[in-house]
Amino acid sequence: MNTDDASRTFAGRKVVVTGAAGFIGSHLCERLVQAGAHVVGIDNLSSGCLDNVSCLKDVAAFELIEHDITTPIELSGSVDHVLHLASPASPLDYALHPLATLKSGAIGTLNALELASAKRARFLLASTSEVYGDPLEHPQAEPYRGNVNPVGPRSVYDEAKRYAEALTASFRRECLADTAIVRIFNTYGPRMRPDDGRAVPAFLQQARTGRPLTVAGDGSQTRSLCYISDTVSGLLAMAASGHQGPVNIGNPEEITILQLAEEIRRLCGSSSAVEFVPLPVDDPRRRCPDIALARAVLGWAPRVGLLDGLALTLAEMDGGAR
Ligand code: UDP
Repeated sequence: MNTDDASRTFAGRKVVVTGAAGFIGSHLCERLVQAGAHVVGIDNLSSGCLDNVSCLKDVAAFELIEHDITTPIELSGSVDHVLHLASPASPLDYALHPLATLKSGAIGTLNALELASAKRARFLLASTSEVYGDPLEHPQAEPYRGNVNPVGPRSVYDEAKRYAEALTASFRRECLADTAIVRIFNTYGPRMRPDDGRAVPAFLQQARTGRPLTVAGDGSQTRSLCYISDTVSGLLAMAASGHQGPVNIGNPEEITILQLAEEIRRLCGSSSAVEFVPLPVDDPRRRCPDIALARAVLGWAPRVGLLDGLALTLAEMDGGAR
């Protein structure tokens, strides 16, 4: 199924999105509404914000419920899909809120699965490349089981998502819900919080304001960055498919963090310096998705190259559309 077919699947469907006011969640809600779905967004507005869904506030097919998913979710009427994205997702956020991160991955996922089970809805778990930890295999394909430090500062996110995957697989195994798992690799684009600590919004903001670009370590660690519209297409394709996953969703265009800083500086026409700062504990050395499975079973591949995606992200920061 290609991604346009996937969008058509949602016409007239009722879709619950947890984390609807977050970076990825809000773009997902927008695309679902465009595809003709009725969307019920759930968010506790801890790392997301109302501004992210302001473009949907007068749309009849969208409602936002302010609710913390660590308490059970009660909704009347039928539901066709539950897309579960709610969680702090940047290393800065989950370091600031370690227990909330563990609870949203564990209890929040249980509650979202219970909702899907009660409504006989198809469930999609937004898992993460962080389940691979600091990977010893490169690129990372789905059968790789990862290298996570279970007691390190990132473990609150990594292990919660690994537990969420186990929970999701168990609901399927016990025939309690039709489930799907996607592992989302680094995604960027409009609506990332400039202060969320991640490399793309940090470097863009620093380059625009003439402050030094804070490159962690020697900047030789790599990431592979996927533009938001591509990630959303991948999520929709998976939700619309009959596949259980896990399936990697990411852009295999790998770049070092120092190269990323230099590209962003060039794009902004900035003369900011580069300042080398300490590497966070357990920061993965290399990360790149193997997306052969997504290509084969979903017909999905990213379309937006890094420089184009960065230019679109910068345009939003400079006052363009959100
Ligand atoms: N990073 C950096 N400077 C920053 C923010 C992040 O050098 O101001 C590095 C970070 O240490 C990591 C990479 O950029 O090696 C990607 O970090 P990000 O937080 O964007 O994503 P994640 O670590 O979750 O992949």
